[in-house]
Amino acid sequence: MISSLVAWRRSASAIASSQDAANPRPSWSSAVAIRGSPFAALEFAVQVLKVRHIVVLGHARCGGIRAFAEGGPPLSPGDSIHKWMSLIAPAVELAGPPEGDGDYLTRLEQASIAMSLDNLLTFPYVAEAVRGGRLFLHGAYFDVATGRMFVRDGIGFTPMKVEPVSSEFEQSLGEHGN
Ligand SMILES: [Zn+2]
Repeated sequence: MISSLVAWRRSASAIASSQDAANPRPSWSSAVAIRGSPFAALEFAVQVLKVRHIVVLGHARCGGIRAFAEGGPPLSPGDSIHKWMSLIAPAVELAGPPEGDGDYLTRLEQASIAMSLDNLLTFPYVAEAVRGGRLFLHGAYFDVATGRMFVRDGIGFTPMKVEPVSSEFEQSLGEHGN
């Protein structure tokens, strides 16, 4: 469970992040039905801060995704956790059958990122900003075991090139309390 949505402007000088279990990023219609701070954070980041980039960040060995894949704890259908986790359901189709190629949980974790990116585009103000070239959406996947970061491209997730962090950048993070 790590930051699922990180939006920033001017090289991370301002970071708005929203953290949710197993990183489902709901569609606009679910957002209207559910209402809550993640949607307010998204709207504020796009409409007010005018962020240029939004990164949907998923991670390996996600307990939330595992719980979902394994049927999860016995929660009632009316439970908030159950409702929130049910947002992952469409990713199951994207991930393909459990017996397919590669690790199923990895495929499901990455499919959840792809689904969240699609869902972001269902927010009219996000779609409009993307169409206008004012906003860019990215998918990233962090392998907590190896410390490797992957970025989503047209085909799948490829390892990210890592460059040394400059001291100016570190300082700027400190100034903003992140
Ligand atoms: Zn997680």
